[in-house]
Amino acid sequence: MKRILEARGLTKAFGGLVAVDDVSFCVQSGELLALIGPNGAGKSTCFNMLMGQLKPTKGHVLLNGVEITGLAPRRIWEKGVGRTFQITATYPSMTVAENVQMALISHHKKVYSMRPFARELYREEAIDLLSMVELFDQIDRHCAVLAYGDLKRLELAIALAHDPIILLMDEPTAGMAPSERIKLMQLTTEVIESRGVSVLFTEHDMDIVFAHAHRIMVLNRGKLIAEGSVDAVRRDPHVQDVYLGGGTVFGREHASGSPYQ
Ligand code: ADP
Ligand code: MG
Repeated sequence: MKRILEARGLTKAFGGLVAVDDVSFCVQSGELLALIGPNGAGKSTCFNMLMGQLKPTKGHVLLNGVEITGLAPRRIWEKGVGRTFQITATYPSMTVAENVQMALISHHKKVYSMRPFARELYREEAIDLLSMVELFDQIDRHCAVLAYGDLKRLELAIALAHDPIILLMDEPTAGMAPSERIKLMQLTTEVIESRGVSVLFTEHDMDIVFAHAHRIMVLNRGKLIAEGSVDAVRRDPHVQDVYLGGGTVFGREHASGSPYQ
């Protein structure tokens, strides 16, 4: 399988605290890779280095084999490392369709030819993307009035408008009700798989991780302590001890009767 995004010896120290410590991994093409670990494990720090928000203390990040370490976030994003679920990425006074049209215009670099805003520019493509994320019935509503879950689906459409090679999703379902979370993640998985986009995501809901990840990496105190298939990671006694304090969360689906085995 082709290596899409690769971290080599990625390290970030904040003063004396080594938040991410010599972490190496790669996301392969079409893969949904989950990065899990307890609070403070270093997941967001790791994401921030991959996206260019934080400069690594040591180590390298490669996209399709080309070094992107330390580039500005915008440059990394332009190279095809997309992000989802940033509420600030939408324009509340514009409609749902216009928001996606703006993203398409920016992706096709036509920002200077759009004065006044060309209402028809990329409208069909925008509607296709919005249908894909099941927002067709809301295309002409203003973003300001959207429900939280709809806004997140809109942000997925906006991210896809930029035709990313890989999407980085740090806790994509944070703040959502459990049933909405499962729905959003199912939709995300379907859309991503149909477009062949790779995904690296963090998520604290283990049911979601087990149901959707192709592979899981476990981070604890900045270090990767396990990596493998969903089954292998679930069964790993080291992971259960270190990360889950004796397997309480891993055992939860048996207690709750979750369908995600
Ligand atoms: P996670 O996302 O896994 O919960 P984080 O990456 O947010 O973990 O944090 C890892 C560790 O780094 C924590 O101990 C956190 O307090 C620390 N940390 C994160 N960002 C900073 C920062 N900007 N300055 C200092 N310490 C930080
Ligand atoms: Mg975090």
